[in-house]
Amino acid sequence: MAETLAPVKPGRLIIDGKAVDAASGATFTTVNPATEEPITTVAEAGPEDVDRAVKAANAALSGAWAKMKPIDRSRVLWKLGDLVLEHADELARLETLDNGKPIFESRHVDIDMVARCFHYFSGWATKLSGDTTPVNPALFTYTLREPVGVVGAIIPWNFPMIMVGWKAAPALAAGNTMVLKPAELTPLTAIRIAELALEAGVPPGVFNVLPGKGRIAGEALVKHPGVAKLSFTGSTEIGQHLMRTAADTLKKLTLELGGKSPNIVFADADLDAALKGATLGIFYGKGEVCGAGSRLFVEKSIYDDFIVKLAERAKKLVPADPLDPKTRLGSLVSKAQMDKVLGYVESGVKEGAQLVAGGQRQPVNGKGAFVQATVLAGVNNRMRVAQEEIFGPVLSVIPFDGVDDAVTQANDVPYGLAAGVWTRDVRKAHTVARRLAAGTVWVNMYNFYDPGMPFGGVKGSGFGRDLGEACLQEYTQVKSVWMNLE
Ligand code: NAP
Ligand code: MG
Repeated sequence: MAETLAPVKPGRLIIDGKAVDAASGATFTTVNPATEEPITTVAEAGPEDVDRAVKAANAALSGAWAKMKPIDRSRVLWKLGDLVLEHADELARLETLDNGKPIFESRHVDIDMVARCFHYFSGWATKLSGDTTPVNPALFTYTLREPVGVVGAIIPWNFPMIMVGWKAAPALAAGNTMVLKPAELTPLTAIRIAELALEAGVPPGVFNVLPGKGRIAGEALVKHPGVAKLSFTGSTEIGQHLMRTAADTLKKLTLELGGKSPNIVFADADLDAALKGATLGIFYGKGEVCGAGSRLFVEKSIYDDFIVKLAERAKKLVPADPLDPKTRLGSLVSKAQMDKVLGYVESGVKEGAQLVAGGQRQPVNGKGAFVQATVLAGVNNRMRVAQEEIFGPVLSVIPFDGVDDAVTQANDVPYGLAAGVWTRDVRKAHTVARRLAAGTVWVNMYNFYDPGMPFGGVKGSGFGRDLGEACLQEYTQVKSVWMNLE
């Protein structure tokens, strides 16, 4: 496996354009969850490093970055997208070692998304503008659209390099600087992308990366008065904590939090397509996907047949070595995550759901945090497995009766991140899409993302948007200029 390939060099902090050790000298070990073996050591940022990085990012706001023409900023970000593609094999391997996801996903899906983020947002660098607003003929009144300043980004472990693209590409395109803390479990690709950013011509101090612990480095970043805005993706609980802490320094916030997204299959749907969409919706990325279609609603008239086919499909999806290009179900990110997921399966069965596929740990070569593709049938929307985010390959299938019942049950959760609708009836598709409380609705497809389409939640899934033109609002602020012409 991986260990016979090139060794992974130790990870360091990227502050002010240099790879450095932590001020305290502390390091931690990042582990491959599929083999349970250490990958390498990584410098662990503490409050002193956070302070250094935030100061560098503030200094960089008025340096070469601010003086650069938007077209040149655009070229630099485009180059970074190119460098991501040039280093695709290396980055994809690091991602799979750190996270346990199939190399098929990291090499062919995640890399493409990261590169597209930098390419897409590079185009926005030249297209941000203010307005002239004639409020009085005796005045010249206009607005400037300016960067917000230093953006602190805190990201989770499920899509470590995609999250770098989602956060850094728009923030930098809009002229901000960034201090990013990757998840402790998956720091390697963020560090590598920061090195590539320097190679692309991003000036020192503009993009700093601080691997370390949330409760130490993350906390210090949230409290730092030199950070103007926080962009966070992670759990609802930490998001709430972060919002309370950020109140002291009045930071702008974008919070992309958890989900328990409904995927609704009407009897009039193309059922083969719906079956594929339902399995992709939950088993892609091992189900460690914020927008995963983890509650599958199936109309009563087709329910029994659909369950049988779903179970067949799930049983064919066998966990295997993530570095094997044929693998489609990898290892969960950690043993702790595996235990949490298996605990939910047990809770579902105790509450009366039927286990029709999977449900067990399935080690590969005797090791790893691998969990079978699991389907729980006969779930009631009030059960814990229907209300709480499991964040693993576990699908809760719930029957429904007609449009109103589907919408009522779908919306009856604390979250509102994404949703899916499968039907051949165009009117039903559009009306249900409007009635679902979700930031994203996919019709006759699931789990599709593009840098051009905004992504984010409502209710317990947070607020603000990543991606699309919409996210540029989050990374810019408006200044009104009044000039007396008399
Ligand atoms: P998490 O525990 O909330 O951690 C997310 C990030 O916050 C990590 O970098 C973590 O650092 C850091 N953190 C933890 N405690 C902190 C604190 N007190 N102050 C500042 N930072 C702190 O979430 P996770 O378990 O990594 O990720 C899974 C969650 O992310 C799920 O709930 C999922 O739905 C959500 N998610 C949402 C989206 C979306 O777009 N809405 C996308 C992906 C994932 P450590 O790694 O050191 O703990
Ligand atoms: Mg790891």
